[in-house]
Amino acid sequence: MAPLPAPTSDIGRLLTGEHLPIDRGNEGLPHVAQASQPALPTIGRCARLTVPREVPPMHDLVVRLSVTARCQLRCIYCLPEEAGGCACGGGQELPWRDLMRLVAALHDRFHVRRVRFTGGEPLLRRDLPDLIEAIAELGIPELAMTTNGQLLAPRAAELRRRGLQRVNISLDSLDPVRFGAISRGGNLARTVEGIRAAQAAGLNPVKLNVVVLRGRNDGEVGDLLHFALQTGCHVRFLELMPIGVAASHWATTWVGQDEIRARLKQPDLTWEEMPWFPQETCRDWRVRDHTGRETVCGFIAAVSQPFCASCRRVRITADGGLHGCLSCNVRHDLNPVLAASTAAEAGAKIHLLMLAAFGDKRTGDFADSVESMCQVGG
Ligand code: SAM
Repeated sequence: MAPLPAPTSDIGRLLTGEHLPIDRGNEGLPHVAQASQPALPTIGRCARLTVPREVPPMHDLVVRLSVTARCQLRCIYCLPEEAGGCACGGGQELPWRDLMRLVAALHDRFHVRRVRFTGGEPLLRRDLPDLIEAIAELGIPELAMTTNGQLLAPRAAELRRRGLQRVNISLDSLDPVRFGAISRGGNLARTVEGIRAAQAAGLNPVKLNVVVLRGRNDGEVGDLLHFALQTGCHVRFLELMPIGVAASHWATTWVGQDEIRARLKQPDLTWEEMPWFPQETCRDWRVRDHTGRETVCGFIAAVSQPFCASCRRVRITADGGLHGCLSCNVRHDLNPVLAASTAAEAGAKIHLLMLAAFGDKRTGDFADSVESMCQVGG
Protein backbone atom coordinates (compact mmCIF):
# COMPACT_ATOMS: atom_id res chain seq x y z
CA MET A 1 0.00 0.00 0.00
CA ALA A 2 1.16 3.56 -0.66
CA PRO A 3 2.43 5.44 2.43
CA LEU A 4 -0.39 7.11 4.28
CA PRO A 5 -0.63 10.87 4.76
CA ALA A 6 -0.11 12.48 8.15
CA PRO A 7 -3.22 12.48 10.33
CA THR A 8 -4.40 16.07 10.06
CA SER A 9 -8.08 15.33 10.41
CA ASP A 10 -10.48 12.57 11.36
CA ILE A 11 -9.94 11.09 7.90
CA GLY A 12 -6.19 11.18 8.53
CA ARG A 13 -6.65 9.50 11.89
CA LEU A 14 -8.73 6.80 10.25
CA LEU A 15 -6.11 6.22 7.59
CA THR A 16 -3.25 5.80 10.01
CA GLY A 17 -5.28 3.53 12.23
CA GLU A 18 -5.06 6.02 15.11
CA HIS A 19 -7.57 5.02 17.70
CA LEU A 20 -11.03 6.46 17.30
CA PRO A 21 -13.49 6.15 20.13
CA ILE A 22 -15.84 3.20 19.96
CA ASP A 23 -19.28 4.72 19.79
CA ARG A 24 -22.17 2.50 20.71
CA GLY A 25 -24.75 5.27 20.67
CA ASN A 26 -28.12 4.38 19.28
CA GLU A 27 -29.20 7.98 18.98
CA GLY A 28 -30.54 8.85 15.56
CA LEU A 29 -29.08 12.02 14.13
CA PRO A 30 -31.54 14.86 13.71
CA HIS A 31 -33.16 15.01 10.33
CA VAL A 32 -32.09 18.15 8.53
CA ALA A 33 -34.99 19.69 6.69
CA GLN A 34 -34.16 20.74 3.14
CA ALA A 35 -35.36 24.05 1.78
CA SER A 36 -36.38 22.53 -1.53
CA GLN A 37 -36.15 18.93 -2.48
CA PRO A 38 -36.04 17.78 -6.10
CA ALA A 39 -39.09 15.98 -7.42
CA LEU A 40 -39.14 12.31 -6.52
CA PRO A 41 -39.43 9.64 -9.17
CA THR A 42 -42.59 7.57 -9.09
CA ILE A 43 -42.23 4.11 -7.63
CA GLY A 44 -44.52 1.30 -8.70
CA ARG A 45 -45.96 -1.22 -6.28
CA CYS A 46 -44.28 -4.59 -6.26
CA ALA A 47 -46.31 -7.00 -8.32
CA ARG A 48 -45.81 -9.94 -10.57
CA LEU A 49 -45.73 -8.88 -14.16
CA THR A 50 -48.83 -9.46 -16.17
CA VAL A 51 -47.07 -8.73 -19.46
CA PRO A 52 -44.16 -11.09 -20.09
CA ARG A 53 -40.88 -9.23 -20.42
CA GLU A 54 -38.18 -10.13 -22.85
CA VAL A 55 -36.15 -12.54 -20.75
CA PRO A 56 -32.45 -11.73 -20.88
CA PRO A 57 -30.22 -14.67 -21.67
CA MET A 58 -29.86 -16.95 -18.67
CA HIS A 59 -26.13 -17.35 -18.91
CA ASP A 60 -23.34 -15.19 -17.62
CA LEU A 61 -25.25 -15.09 -14.35
CA VAL A 62 -24.44 -13.09 -11.27
CA VAL A 63 -25.50 -15.02 -8.18
CA ARG A 64 -25.95 -13.20 -4.88
CA LEU A 65 -25.67 -15.87 -2.24
CA SER A 66 -27.07 -14.79 1.09
CA VAL A 67 -25.30 -17.12 3.51
CA THR A 68 -27.25 -15.88 6.52
CA ALA A 69 -30.12 -13.50 7.19
CA ARG A 70 -28.53 -12.58 10.54
CA CYS A 71 -26.74 -9.27 11.02
CA GLN A 72 -25.13 -7.77 14.11
CA LEU A 73 -25.98 -4.24 12.92
CA ARG A 74 -29.38 -2.74 12.23
CA CYS A 75 -28.75 -0.09 9.57
CA ILE A 76 -31.63 2.38 9.54
CA TYR A 77 -32.38 1.76 5.84
CA CYS A 78 -32.17 -2.02 6.10
CA LEU A 79 -33.61 -3.29 9.37
CA PRO A 80 -36.17 -2.25 11.96
CA GLU A 81 -34.74 -0.94 15.22
CA GLU A 82 -36.02 -3.87 17.24
CA ALA A 83 -35.03 -7.45 16.50
CA GLY A 84 -38.01 -9.71 15.84
CA GLY A 85 -40.79 -9.29 13.32
CA CYS A 86 -38.19 -9.79 10.63
CA ALA A 87 -36.40 -12.91 9.35
CA CYS A 88 -33.07 -11.15 9.87
CA GLY A 89 -33.08 -12.48 13.41
CA GLY A 90 -32.35 -15.95 12.09
CA GLY A 91 -34.28 -18.46 10.05
CA GLN A 92 -33.03 -21.71 8.63
CA GLU A 93 -29.47 -21.78 7.29
CA LEU A 94 -28.54 -24.56 4.92
CA PRO A 95 -25.19 -26.24 5.59
CA TRP A 96 -22.39 -24.84 3.41
CA ARG A 97 -22.25 -28.05 1.34
CA ASP A 98 -25.91 -27.60 0.32
CA LEU A 99 -25.35 -23.96 -0.62
CA MET A 100 -22.38 -25.08 -2.70
CA ARG A 101 -24.50 -27.79 -4.39
CA LEU A 102 -27.11 -25.20 -5.38
CA VAL A 103 -24.48 -22.97 -6.94
CA ALA A 104 -22.93 -26.00 -8.66
CA ALA A 105 -26.30 -26.98 -10.16
CA LEU A 106 -26.77 -23.43 -11.47
CA HIS A 107 -23.25 -23.31 -12.85
CA ASP A 108 -23.65 -26.69 -14.60
CA ARG A 109 -26.80 -25.60 -16.38
CA PHE A 110 -26.03 -21.93 -16.99
CA HIS A 111 -22.73 -20.15 -16.79
CA VAL A 112 -22.19 -18.33 -13.50
CA ARG A 113 -19.82 -15.41 -13.96
CA ARG A 114 -19.77 -14.14 -10.41
CA VAL A 115 -20.85 -15.26 -6.97
CA ARG A 116 -21.21 -12.55 -4.37
CA PHE A 117 -21.41 -13.73 -0.76
CA THR A 118 -23.75 -11.49 1.16
CA GLY A 119 -26.48 -11.51 3.78
CA GLY A 120 -27.33 -10.45 6.48
CA GLU A 121 -23.71 -10.27 7.47
CA PRO A 122 -21.75 -13.07 5.78
CA LEU A 123 -18.88 -12.95 8.28
CA LEU A 124 -21.24 -14.16 11.02
CA ARG A 125 -20.91 -17.63 9.47
CA ARG A 126 -17.81 -19.39 10.78
CA ASP A 127 -17.89 -21.89 7.90
CA LEU A 128 -17.71 -19.16 5.24
CA PRO A 129 -14.09 -20.04 4.26
CA ASP A 130 -15.13 -23.66 3.55
CA LEU A 131 -18.00 -22.47 1.37
CA ILE A 132 -15.77 -20.03 -0.50
CA GLU A 133 -13.13 -22.67 -1.15
CA ALA A 134 -15.70 -25.17 -2.42
CA ILE A 135 -17.27 -22.61 -4.75
CA ALA A 136 -13.84 -21.50 -5.98
CA GLU A 137 -13.22 -25.13 -6.96
CA LEU A 138 -16.26 -25.01 -9.27
CA GLY A 139 -14.24 -22.68 -11.50
CA ILE A 140 -16.51 -19.64 -11.26
CA PRO A 141 -14.44 -16.69 -12.53
CA GLU A 142 -15.30 -14.03 -9.92
CA LEU A 143 -15.86 -14.46 -6.19
CA ALA A 144 -16.71 -11.35 -4.19
CA MET A 145 -18.30 -10.52 -0.84
CA THR A 146 -20.33 -7.63 0.56
CA THR A 147 -19.77 -7.01 4.27
CA ASN A 148 -20.08 -4.36 6.94
CA GLY A 149 -16.41 -5.01 7.70
CA GLN A 150 -16.83 -5.21 11.47
CA LEU A 151 -15.37 -8.73 11.66
CA LEU A 152 -13.17 -8.56 8.58
CA ALA A 153 -9.72 -7.60 9.87
CA PRO A 154 -8.77 -10.93 11.47
CA ARG A 155 -10.29 -12.99 8.64
CA ALA A 156 -9.34 -11.15 5.45
CA ALA A 157 -6.10 -13.06 4.79
CA GLU A 158 -7.73 -16.48 5.22
CA LEU A 159 -10.67 -15.58 2.98
CA ARG A 160 -8.23 -14.46 0.27
CA ARG A 161 -6.26 -17.69 0.63
CA ARG A 162 -9.42 -19.77 0.31
CA GLY A 163 -10.40 -18.11 -2.98
CA LEU A 164 -12.22 -14.83 -2.33
CA GLN A 165 -11.06 -12.15 -4.76
CA ARG A 166 -12.74 -8.88 -3.84
CA VAL A 167 -14.81 -7.21 -1.14
CA ASN A 168 -17.37 -4.42 -1.05
CA ILE A 169 -17.52 -2.80 2.37
CA SER A 170 -20.41 -0.69 3.60
CA LEU A 171 -19.15 2.67 4.83
CA ASP A 172 -21.90 5.25 5.21
CA SER A 173 -19.96 7.82 7.21
CA LEU A 174 -16.47 8.83 8.31
CA ASP A 175 -17.80 10.32 11.51
CA PRO A 176 -17.79 7.71 14.30
CA VAL A 177 -20.98 9.01 15.93
CA ARG A 178 -22.89 9.25 12.66
CA PHE A 179 -21.55 5.85 11.56
CA GLY A 180 -22.78 4.34 14.83
CA ALA A 181 -26.17 6.02 14.48
CA ILE A 182 -26.80 4.98 10.85
CA SER A 183 -25.69 1.40 11.47
CA ARG A 184 -27.20 1.36 14.98
CA GLY A 185 -24.17 0.11 16.84
CA GLY A 186 -21.40 -0.20 14.24
CA ASN A 187 -17.87 0.79 15.15
CA LEU A 188 -16.17 2.93 12.50
CA ALA A 189 -12.61 2.15 13.58
CA ARG A 190 -13.30 -1.56 13.23
CA THR A 191 -14.66 -1.20 9.69
CA VAL A 192 -11.66 0.95 8.71
CA GLU A 193 -9.39 -1.73 10.14
CA GLY A 194 -11.29 -4.23 7.97
CA ILE A 195 -10.70 -2.04 4.89
CA ARG A 196 -6.96 -1.88 5.57
CA ALA A 197 -6.75 -5.64 6.23
CA ALA A 198 -8.65 -6.39 3.02
CA GLN A 199 -6.24 -4.24 1.00
CA ALA A 200 -3.23 -5.82 2.67
CA ALA A 201 -4.62 -9.30 1.94
CA GLY A 202 -5.02 -8.45 -1.76
CA LEU A 203 -8.83 -8.33 -1.87
CA ASN A 204 -8.53 -5.46 -4.33
CA PRO A 205 -10.03 -3.25 -5.45
CA VAL A 206 -11.85 -2.74 -2.16
CA LYS A 207 -15.12 -1.01 -3.03
CA LEU A 208 -16.83 1.16 -0.46
CA ASN A 209 -20.64 1.16 -0.56
CA VAL A 210 -22.32 4.35 0.60
CA VAL A 211 -26.11 4.54 0.79
CA VAL A 212 -26.80 8.28 0.55
CA LEU A 213 -29.48 9.52 2.95
CA ARG A 214 -30.82 13.06 3.01
CA GLY A 215 -30.09 14.83 6.24
CA ARG A 216 -27.82 12.04 7.46
CA ASN A 217 -24.73 11.56 5.30
CA ASP A 218 -25.49 13.51 2.09
CA GLY A 219 -23.16 16.27 3.28
CA GLU A 220 -20.31 13.75 3.55
CA VAL A 221 -20.14 12.43 0.00
CA GLY A 222 -17.16 14.68 -0.87
CA ASP A 223 -15.19 13.46 2.16
CA LEU A 224 -15.98 9.86 1.29
CA LEU A 225 -14.68 10.39 -2.25
CA HIS A 226 -11.46 11.92 -0.83
CA PHE A 227 -11.15 8.99 1.55
CA ALA A 228 -11.28 6.68 -1.48
CA LEU A 229 -8.62 8.78 -3.25
CA GLN A 230 -6.38 8.64 -0.20
CA THR A 231 -6.75 4.94 0.46
CA GLY A 232 -6.85 3.59 -3.10
CA CYS A 233 -10.33 2.13 -2.56
CA HIS A 234 -13.13 2.56 -5.07
CA VAL A 235 -16.33 4.20 -3.87
CA ARG A 236 -19.93 3.64 -4.99
CA PHE A 237 -22.84 5.86 -4.03
CA LEU A 238 -26.14 4.00 -3.84
CA GLU A 239 -29.54 5.55 -4.21
CA LEU A 240 -31.81 4.42 -1.40
CA MET A 241 -34.18 1.70 -2.57
CA PRO A 242 -37.69 1.64 -1.12
CA ILE A 243 -37.30 -1.85 0.29
CA GLY A 244 -38.41 -3.11 3.69
CA VAL A 245 -38.02 -0.45 6.38
CA ALA A 246 -36.59 2.02 3.87
CA ALA A 247 -39.97 2.24 2.12
CA SER A 248 -41.43 4.12 5.08
CA HIS A 249 -38.88 6.98 5.01
CA TRP A 250 -37.84 6.75 1.37
CA ALA A 251 -39.70 9.88 0.21
CA THR A 252 -37.90 12.09 2.74
CA THR A 253 -34.44 10.50 2.61
CA TRP A 254 -33.86 9.47 -1.02
CA VAL A 255 -31.14 11.42 -2.83
CA GLY A 256 -30.82 10.95 -6.61
CA GLN A 257 -27.55 10.47 -8.46
CA ASP A 258 -27.75 13.90 -10.15
CA GLU A 259 -27.75 15.60 -6.79
CA ILE A 260 -24.97 13.35 -5.46
CA ARG A 261 -22.83 14.13 -8.51
CA ALA A 262 -23.47 17.85 -8.15
CA ARG A 263 -22.21 17.63 -4.57
CA LEU A 264 -19.06 15.85 -5.76
CA LYS A 265 -18.05 18.41 -8.38
CA GLN A 266 -14.93 20.02 -7.00
CA PRO A 267 -12.43 22.20 -8.86
CA ASP A 268 -9.45 19.94 -8.17
CA LEU A 269 -11.11 16.79 -9.55
CA THR A 270 -11.37 15.57 -13.13
CA TRP A 271 -14.02 13.04 -14.15
CA GLU A 272 -13.82 10.58 -17.01
CA GLU A 273 -16.73 8.27 -17.74
CA MET A 274 -15.79 4.60 -17.98
CA PRO A 275 -17.45 2.02 -20.25
CA TRP A 276 -20.69 0.63 -18.89
CA PHE A 277 -21.79 -2.95 -19.43
CA PRO A 278 -25.58 -3.39 -19.43
CA GLN A 279 -25.48 -6.33 -17.00
CA GLU A 280 -23.74 -4.16 -14.38
CA THR A 281 -25.70 -2.08 -11.88
CA CYS A 282 -22.97 0.49 -11.34
CA ARG A 283 -21.95 3.31 -13.68
CA ASP A 284 -18.31 4.22 -13.07
CA TRP A 285 -16.19 7.33 -13.48
CA ARG A 286 -12.43 7.55 -13.14
CA VAL A 287 -11.68 10.48 -10.85
CA ARG A 288 -8.29 12.18 -10.55
CA ASP A 289 -7.21 14.88 -8.17
CA HIS A 290 -4.57 17.59 -8.73
CA THR A 291 -1.85 15.43 -7.14
CA GLY A 292 -2.37 12.64 -9.66
CA ARG A 293 -4.15 10.28 -7.29
CA GLU A 294 -7.06 8.46 -8.86
CA THR A 295 -9.98 6.28 -7.92
CA VAL A 296 -13.13 4.86 -9.45
CA CYS A 297 -16.35 6.46 -8.31
CA GLY A 298 -19.57 4.64 -9.17
CA PHE A 299 -23.28 5.33 -8.92
CA ILE A 300 -25.91 2.68 -8.38
CA ALA A 301 -29.01 4.60 -9.35
CA ALA A 302 -31.58 1.85 -8.87
CA VAL A 303 -34.43 4.34 -8.81
CA SER A 304 -33.52 7.22 -11.15
CA GLN A 305 -31.73 5.09 -13.76
CA PRO A 306 -32.96 1.52 -13.30
CA PHE A 307 -31.05 -1.38 -14.77
CA CYS A 308 -33.91 -3.90 -14.66
CA ALA A 309 -34.07 -4.51 -18.41
CA SER A 310 -30.64 -6.12 -18.58
CA CYS A 311 -30.56 -7.68 -15.13
CA ARG A 312 -28.99 -11.13 -14.93
CA ARG A 313 -28.83 -11.38 -11.17
CA VAL A 314 -30.47 -14.10 -9.17
CA ARG A 315 -30.49 -14.38 -5.40
CA ILE A 316 -30.18 -17.53 -3.35
CA THR A 317 -31.15 -17.23 0.28
CA ALA A 318 -29.62 -19.07 3.23
CA ASP A 319 -32.72 -21.25 3.55
CA GLY A 320 -32.67 -22.32 -0.11
CA GLY A 321 -34.94 -19.76 -1.75
CA LEU A 322 -34.44 -18.42 -5.27
CA HIS A 323 -35.41 -14.80 -6.02
CA GLY A 324 -35.36 -13.47 -9.55
CA CYS A 325 -36.01 -9.87 -8.62
CA LEU A 326 -35.17 -7.70 -5.63
CA SER A 327 -38.42 -5.81 -5.96
CA CYS A 328 -40.61 -8.88 -6.23
CA ASN A 329 -41.46 -10.93 -3.17
CA VAL A 330 -41.86 -14.25 -4.96
CA ARG A 331 -39.60 -16.98 -3.56
CA HIS A 332 -38.98 -20.23 -5.44
CA ASP A 333 -38.03 -23.18 -3.26
CA LEU A 334 -34.71 -24.78 -4.25
CA ASN A 335 -34.94 -27.65 -1.78
CA PRO A 336 -36.28 -30.04 -4.49
CA VAL A 337 -32.99 -29.46 -6.34
CA LEU A 338 -31.11 -30.70 -3.26
CA ALA A 339 -33.41 -33.73 -3.08
CA ALA A 340 -32.70 -34.75 -6.70
CA SER A 341 -30.97 -38.10 -7.02
CA THR A 342 -28.93 -37.34 -10.14
CA ALA A 343 -27.17 -34.30 -11.55
CA ALA A 344 -29.45 -34.43 -14.60
CA GLU A 345 -32.56 -34.35 -12.40
CA ALA A 346 -31.12 -31.44 -10.36
CA GLY A 347 -30.33 -29.61 -13.61
CA ALA A 348 -33.85 -30.10 -14.98
CA LYS A 349 -35.40 -28.85 -11.73
CA ILE A 350 -33.22 -25.80 -11.46
CA HIS A 351 -33.88 -24.97 -15.10
CA LEU A 352 -37.63 -24.76 -14.49
CA LEU A 353 -37.17 -22.72 -11.33
CA MET A 354 -34.88 -20.32 -13.16
CA LEU A 355 -37.47 -19.80 -15.90
CA ALA A 356 -39.98 -18.88 -13.20
CA ALA A 357 -37.49 -16.61 -11.40
CA PHE A 358 -36.54 -14.76 -14.59
CA GLY A 359 -40.25 -14.37 -15.30
CA ASP A 360 -40.50 -12.39 -12.05
CA LYS A 361 -38.15 -9.68 -13.28
CA ARG A 362 -39.52 -6.19 -13.78
CA THR A 363 -39.75 -4.72 -17.28
CA GLY A 364 -37.76 -1.59 -16.75
CA ASP A 365 -38.25 0.12 -13.45
CA PHE A 366 -37.77 -0.54 -9.80
CA ALA A 367 -40.75 -1.21 -7.54
CA ASP A 368 -40.94 -1.16 -3.81
CA SER A 369 -40.94 -4.33 -1.79
CA VAL A 370 -42.06 -5.31 1.66
CA GLU A 371 -39.13 -7.62 2.23
CA SER A 372 -35.87 -6.34 3.65
CA MET A 373 -32.49 -6.70 1.98
CA CYS A 374 -31.30 -9.04 4.70
CA GLN A 375 -34.04 -11.51 3.78
CA VAL A 376 -33.36 -11.60 0.05
CA GLY A 377 -29.65 -10.92 0.27
CA GLY A 378 -28.51 -7.35 -0.29
N1 SAM B 1 -24.10 -6.84 5.91
C1 SAM B 1 -23.47 -6.56 4.66
C2 SAM B 1 -23.23 -5.08 4.50
O1 SAM B 1 -23.57 -4.32 5.39
O2 SAM B 1 -22.65 -4.70 3.49
C3 SAM B 1 -24.14 -7.18 3.45
C4 SAM B 1 -25.63 -7.10 3.37
S1 SAM B 1 -26.23 -5.47 3.02
C5 SAM B 1 -27.95 -5.81 2.97
C6 SAM B 1 -25.73 -5.28 1.34
C7 SAM B 1 -25.81 -3.91 0.76
O3 SAM B 1 -27.15 -3.54 0.64
C8 SAM B 1 -25.11 -2.85 1.56
O4 SAM B 1 -24.16 -2.18 0.81
C9 SAM B 1 -26.23 -1.95 1.98
O5 SAM B 1 -25.80 -0.66 2.11
C10 SAM B 1 -27.23 -2.14 0.86
N2 SAM B 1 -28.61 -1.80 1.21
C11 SAM B 1 -29.39 -2.31 2.17
N3 SAM B 1 -30.61 -1.74 2.17
C12 SAM B 1 -30.62 -0.84 1.16
C13 SAM B 1 -31.60 0.05 0.63
N4 SAM B 1 -32.81 0.14 1.15
N5 SAM B 1 -31.26 0.81 -0.44
C14 SAM B 1 -30.02 0.72 -0.98
N6 SAM B 1 -29.06 -0.11 -0.53
C15 SAM B 1 -29.35 -0.88 0.53
